[in-house]
Order: sequence, then C-alpha cells, then structure tokens
Amino acid sequence: MRFDLITIFPEFFTGPLEHGIVRRAREAGLIQVHVQDLREFTKDRHRSVDDRPFGGGEGMVLKPEPLFEAVESLLDRSVGDASEQNTKDPGTVIVLMSAAGKLFRQETARRYSQLRRMILICGRYEGVDERVAQHLATEEISIGDFVLSGGELPALLVMDAVTRLLPGALGNEASSQNESFSASLSPSPGDSVQPKRKYEPMKNVLLDFPHYTRPAEYRGWKVPEILVGGNHAEVAKWRRQQAMKKTRRNRPDLLARE
Ligand code: SAH
Repeated sequence: MRFDLITIFPEFFTGPLEHGIVRRAREAGLIQVHVQDLREFTKDRHRSVDDRPFGGGEGMVLKPEPLFEAVESLLDRSVGDASEQNTKDPGTVIVLMSAAGKLFRQETARRYSQLRRMILICGRYEGVDERVAQHLATEEISIGDFVLSGGELPALLVMDAVTRLLPGALGNEASSQNESFSASLSPSPGDSVQPKRKYEPMKNVLLDFPHYTRPAEYRGWKVPEILVGGNHAEVAKWRRQQAMKKTRRNRPDLLARE
C-alpha cells in the first residue's frame, strides 16, 4: 500500500516513520511512504501556499492551486474542473485531515486497509480552501473532537492505524483481531449490557480487556488470581467481563443498559 503525505513541513515525518511496526512494514515493502512538500507546487517567488480569507477574519487559509496540482502530479492525471465530473479510482482515497471532518474510527482504518493507495492532505493555519474538501478530497476526516495546529499528526495517526491492519504487519496475525473496537469483542446476547443500536457498527464493540505481565505481585498489587490459575475458559470469561466493565467505565457511550 502506498501513502502520500502532502505537507508544508516534510521534515515532520522523519522520526515517526522510523519505529516499530511502521518501520518494519516499510522495510518489508508492505507500505511505501512518500512525503510531498506542498511548496514544490507554488509558482511565486515567495513560494506561498496560503492567503487571506475571503469575507475577512483571522488567519490564513491554504490556497487551492498548490494542493490540486500536488495531487494531480501524484496521480499523474487531472482531477478536472467545475465543468467535468471527477472520475474516482476505487483503490485510492484522497483524505483531507480536518477537525470538521467525519470521525476516524477503527472501522475507517479497516476500510482503508483494503486500499491500494492513500493520499493524505495535511492542513495548517485556519484550514484549507473549501474547494479542496468539495472537489479534490474524496473524504474529509477528523481524528477526534479537538483542534490541533496541523494535519501532520492526524495523518501519521491514520497511517499507523491502517498499517498495523495490513496482513503481515503485526508479528502475530491474531493480535489485531482481538483488541479494542474489534468484532470479536462484540457484546453477545448473554451479556448484561447491550449495545445502543444493533446495526451501528462501532457501537457494537467493546474496549480491550486489561493485560498483566510479571511480576505477579508489584508493590503489593497482585495480578488477578484467575489469570495465574491457567483455566482457559475461566480466563476467557473473566476477560470478557472486564472488557465490559472497562467499556462501561471509560466509554459508556458505547453501551446502554436495557
Ligand atoms: N479552523 C479549523 C482548524 C484548523 S487547524 C477549525 O476550526 O476546524 C489546522 C489544520 O490542522 C486543519 O486544516 C487540519 O488539517 C488539522 N487538524 C486540526 N485538528 C484536527 C483534527 N481533529 N483532525 C484532523 N485534522 C485536524
């Protein structure tokens, strides 16, 4: 899978791609990452990527031209203009990172992990000319209900979540099946707490269960007896109960008592 990151701060990405699963996935050729400096697509002497907002107000806005041209150069085709219907390639998404976008979730990461290519556009300043969201990006995505100073961290976060879902990226294939927000942790009919709405995919999942490792006692805090006992059925039951408890405590929005 190929990731293209469009940014005015290309150096931002040097550290984060050098560690752990993302590094291994790059080395194994599972992913290719290309960082595109947006300023290469400016034409003026000052290499300006931003301009003042129409209608007045504070701050600066990323101009459409460099972004359209950067994406077109990456795709090696035109995305057209107002007189044409933009043709889409189903294997590629062009994602605008935006606090005003749709929320990125584990199910979004799963959908993206089926793609051939992702182009991620990192905004800055007050944001990006709306025509980018409307006519260039295929999706506008937010990583959470807070405002950051740029789209670089959000793009890295999306890339990380997607990369670890690619077959072969994790040492142990099973490990992305059995974690927070995964289908195998869906509440079952016997559970005392049920998901709010049955067919809302992300409501139908639990958080991960608590994990423990050695020492069996640390500063007087003991690992739960059941985990040390080695009864697999009991362990599975306990983990499920704990996952439910933790979901209720930390994310009651995912559950509703009935
Ligand atoms: N004026 C905008 C915020 C701009 S922040 C607003 O009120 O919504 C500058 C850039 O940071 C954005 O263009 C976007 O690319 C990125 N950004 C900030 N918060 C983000 C979030 N929660 N998710 C994804 N991108 C975000």
